[in-house]
Amino acid sequence: METTTGSVLADPRWNAFTTQGFACSCGERHVGLFPIHLHHPLGWQGKDDYEADADMRMDGTFLSANFCIIDGKFFAMRVRLPLQMRGAAPAAFMFTTWASLDRVDFDAFVEAYKSGKLDPNARARARLVNRVGGFPDTFNLMGSAFQQTDGGPPVLIVHGIQAGPNNEHPMLAEQRDGIGVDRMLELFAAYGHDMRGGIPLAN
Ligand SMILES: [Zn+2]
Repeated sequence: METTTGSVLADPRWNAFTTQGFACSCGERHVGLFPIHLHHPLGWQGKDDYEADADMRMDGTFLSANFCIIDGKFFAMRVRLPLQMRGAAPAAFMFTTWASLDRVDFDAFVEAYKSGKLDPNARARARLVNRVGGFPDTFNLMGSAFQQTDGGPPVLIVHGIQAGPNNEHPMLAEQRDGIGVDRMLELFAAYGHDMRGGIPLAN
């Protein structure tokens, strides 16, 4: 059994996964981590097709790969939500999910993104607006979105005081402390990538 504190570097399955890979229930063989992308925020009821970022309508209803606006009142953006592999940073299990921001913060992020002036010190209060698989309900978890100078989506860290029982939400601890190989496999399996069959048990 894996411990809750050990480095994945001490788990032979981590080395096997990143070098030879594991056969998966989806029919592929995956070598190393790959991101899980959530298509749109909870509450989006429009078409699945993405429009171009450049066609964004602030006062309407709009969905691109990076931005979502509903009725000119709800503003969300795609964010990266990393769970570090314990002891193997910067390796991280990566979801891309959606976070809603206040209009003023949304405008600032969009402007920075469009102008290529992303600031590693820029952050904004953000609310996770997906139910992420493999977790108890994550909708409405609060955190901070951090601009990233690589031009990709901001990074969302859930942290701080949460509403009611969400103070004990496991996503907070897992983002803070990282995850091990068993948890990584559980999260992949929650998205149709079950690699748990046929992997020798650690030790
Ligand atoms: Zn798969």
